[in-house]
Amino acid sequence: MQTLHLKVDPDNPNPKIIEIAAALIREGETVAFPTETVYGVGANGLDEKAVRNVFKAKGRPLNNPLLMHVMSWEQASSLVTDISEEVLLLVNRFWPGPLTLVARANDKVPPLVTAGLPTVGLRMPDHRVALDLIKAAGVPVAATSANLSGRPSSTSARHVLKDLNGRIAGVLDAGSTGWGIESTILDITRPPFTILRPGAVSRERLEEVLPGLIAATKPGAEERSRLRAAHYRPDARVIPVKPGENLAQLAQAEAARGKRVGVVVVGDQELPTLVDLVVVINGGSAEYGRRLYEIFRLADSRKIEYLFMEIPEETGLGVAVADRIYEAARR
Ligand code: AMP
Ligand code: MG
Repeated sequence: MQTLHLKVDPDNPNPKIIEIAAALIREGETVAFPTETVYGVGANGLDEKAVRNVFKAKGRPLNNPLLMHVMSWEQASSLVTDISEEVLLLVNRFWPGPLTLVARANDKVPPLVTAGLPTVGLRMPDHRVALDLIKAAGVPVAATSANLSGRPSSTSARHVLKDLNGRIAGVLDAGSTGWGIESTILDITRPPFTILRPGAVSRERLEEVLPGLIAATKPGAEERSRLRAAHYRPDARVIPVKPGENLAQLAQAEAARGKRVGVVVVGDQELPTLVDLVVVINGGSAEYGRRLYEIFRLADSRKIEYLFMEIPEETGLGVAVADRIYEAARR
């Protein structure tokens, strides 16, 4: 399969180019597109055969559900049942944006999208290109991150093509994406609404809208949301280091054994010498989140064997960043 590389302006995409991609979606093909978090790859969410192509392209296990990407709340609500009033407050405040709502699916949703779960994840991306694509296609787009299964998510079309060239029908290329970290996944099937996966919208921000109604990730949530350990992993062995532990010393010791070592540190501090990759995060957890997958890919390209990563303070966006680092460290 030849993958069409379609370049568009992120803020004002050419409708003719969007239409080429939308036509592919309508024909049951797979298209990658930018969102405000990472690049997604999707297909017609109402067509089970088309949805299967997304799993095939990524090598994604069929038991790992996709998200329905929509261009309006109206479109989202046509796919689910039992929506409470509080949910509308969240939608008004955070949509379009990196908040995925998990609600009870109705029978319009093909079981393959939800991997057989009774619920479906709904997301309205805050990216003009994604919204224009979904609008032009005229159907919700079942999508997930545009990377081979088990590889880090893609934050540029170059990453998408590295993983999926020849495996998908097209990619809408609008340059680098903004956040770099995936959406927050919130279960809204019953109160209190539970964060299944921490992400770009912090718990604190959700609490501002619904005080006392937001529960943090519970043990077992991971199982329910089918989050996979294989999701966010570079080739290197990732070693999470808490603030206050001597990261420089730990890294130095590994380097002294002749290993290829990388370090990621937060703010000003002592840096190890003799290591092969040093990344300093000065812009807080927002910068850490934005650069996380880029760092994973950089570590891979430098053939890093041990990647020591400082855990940021676990509040706000730091919760999502820490979650992804721990996830990457699991093997
Ligand atoms: P993403 O990684 O952003 O592509 O989102 C896909 C992830 O959302 C899946 O791997 C699941 O962990 C989660 N997810 C999708 N649908 C559901 C659902 N119905 N219930 C819980 N989690 C879901
Ligand atoms: Mg993914």
